[in-house]
Amino acid sequence: MMHAHSFQPPPRTLMGPGPADVHPRVSAALARPTIGHLDPAFGGMMEELKDLLRYAFRTQNALTMPVSAPGSAGMETCFVNLVDPGDKVIVCINGVFGHRMRENVIRAGGEAVVVEGDWGRAMDPHKVEDALKANPDARILAFVHAETSTGASSDAETLVELAHRHDCLTIVDAVTSLAGSPLEVDAWGIDAVYSGSQKCLSCTPGLSPVSFSERALEKVTARSEPVRSWFLDLNLVLGYWKGDGKRSYHHTAPVNALYGLHESLVMLADEGIEQSWARHRRNHLALRAGLEQLGLELVVPEDERLPQLNAVAVPGGVDEAAVRARLLQDYNLEIGAGLGALAGKVWRIGLMGYSSRADNILLCLGALGSILSESGHRADVGAALAAAQASLRD
Ligand SMILES: *Cc1c(COP(=O)(O)O)cnc(C)c1O
Repeated sequence: MMHAHSFQPPPRTLMGPGPADVHPRVSAALARPTIGHLDPAFGGMMEELKDLLRYAFRTQNALTMPVSAPGSAGMETCFVNLVDPGDKVIVCINGVFGHRMRENVIRAGGEAVVVEGDWGRAMDPHKVEDALKANPDARILAFVHAETSTGASSDAETLVELAHRHDCLTIVDAVTSLAGSPLEVDAWGIDAVYSGSQKCLSCTPGLSPVSFSERALEKVTARSEPVRSWFLDLNLVLGYWKGDGKRSYHHTAPVNALYGLHESLVMLADEGIEQSWARHRRNHLALRAGLEQLGLELVVPEDERLPQLNAVAVPGGVDEAAVRARLLQDYNLEIGAGLGALAGKVWRIGLMGYSSRADNILLCLGALGSILSESGHRADVGAALAAAQASLRD
């Protein structure tokens, strides 16, 4: 006989690049009784979920639903459905997730044309325009709205407009932007967009909301050959999610996970999407005010910064990994390390969803300041906490 014990996770505060803290209301929703995924009561919940996602994405798109897998599957859903073999796709790369988009284009049989951006900066629209001009046969422009690997936000509205002027559809990664900073799917004319449940929605990891415009859906239904993924083929998935009349079995929906997403979206609707953006911004400003007093600087220029992901330059002489290890061990606080070109150079402090709260900011500033002081870096913890408090009161 094998002896095993229930897993009891340590209590943690999640201020990294995701997952973020899950709201207790979401955890409670996850524990509700499982019902059949074809139960009419469940179908009613699915329809509400789609409406709530339309609210969050600011779209009327009929095809708006959660993919039953994490954000990476939402990314893959967009590429495998929209990229026909041979299609030329312009991919913007200014961080880790742009690289993954390129990989997706190639695996879907497309030809990727890369526009290189700088890590820690927004994509330069002029460079994107040059690539669109140089590739008049391109069909799609793909870019990351909120680059979680660097904390930089690109001007999605401008990039989408450029793409349309050159007859390209757009695929936009909004995994970290949804609910954390302004995202206007319809007003900006985004054709296909995907997000994730575990960033600014205060929900558990594992689901990926997506939304496709009519124009994008037309390209999916007019494909020259079947989608190269059975599970992610929207022509099949929609038989279950479409909602007009009979729903047919495609895969068993993650019933309880969807209760959790539904609850998180009910909370978002209660708060108001614009109020959620404002909260993320207010808390970002308070964190920044405190970091300044600790002698720490953000690496992204001010007007390109994401409020929900703060990349902080590691001061000279400080062992960045040792600091993160102590935060976790002594304070149960998780922050993120740098990736790719920023590895070893930055900490990534997330203020996403339910993690974007005053008490988390004060915990993080106090803990980080204390550890830095002990290691000889000049950091005034009292001044940092006072500055954050003052900023929150403004
Ligand atoms: C987190 C993230 C993803 C991937 O989401 P997973 O849920 O980890 O699969 C994709 N793009 C961006 C910008 C992200 O931050």
